[in-house]
Amino acid sequence: MGNEWEMPRRGEACAICQHTFEPGEAIQAYLFESPRGYERRDYCVNCRPPDEVFAIGSWQTHRPRPAAKKLYSFDREAIQRFFEQLEDADTREKRQLRFVLALLLWRKKALKFDRSETDDGREVWHFVVPRSETAHAVVRPDLNEDQLEQLGEQLEGLLTGEVDDLNAVVSNPNEDQVDA
Ligand SMILES: [Zn+2]
Repeated sequence: MGNEWEMPRRGEACAICQHTFEPGEAIQAYLFESPRGYERRDYCVNCRPPDEVFAIGSWQTHRPRPAAKKLYSFDREAIQRFFEQLEDADTREKRQLRFVLALLLWRKKALKFDRSETDDGREVWHFVVPRSETAHAVVRPDLNEDQLEQLGEQLEGLLTGEVDDLNAVVSNPNEDQVDA
C-alpha cells in the first residue's frame, strides 16, 4: 500500500510549518482518528491543527533530548493530563483509549488500582492518583486481555513517538501482528 504520508516522522518536525523541533523544545501532540486507526502528529506550541480534523485529544510534551537515558521517554504528566481530558469519553473509541491509558498509567505507578465493581452490567475499575488521592472511575471496554495488551503496547509506542500509528488495531485487534 502506498504511503501518502508526506509529513516527517512525528516528533521530528511540526506538521503545519515544518519547523524542525529542537531537543527539549515544548511541543503539542495530537491524537487523531483516521481510516487506518489512530495517528499522532506533533505541532509547535503556536501552530494548531486544521479545524476540520477531529482530534481525540492533545497533550503538551517536549522533544526528547538525545542525552536522555531512555530513547523514548514516557511523559507521565502529559499522559496523565491526556487521560483526564477523556473523563467524559462519549464514544466507544474514546472509552477504549481511556481504559488503556489508565492501564499504562497504572503500570507507570501514576495511578493506583483501588477496586473493580460491576455497575449496571458494566465493569468499572476505580483508580486513585497517589499524591492527590483524586479518584477516577474507568469503564472496562468490551475487549479481551490480548486485545487490551496489544492496544496498550501500540498506544504506548504512539504516545512516546516510537511508532507512527496504531494500524486500526482498535477495529481489527487480531489482524495485525506486533513485531517484538
Ligand atoms: Zn509549527
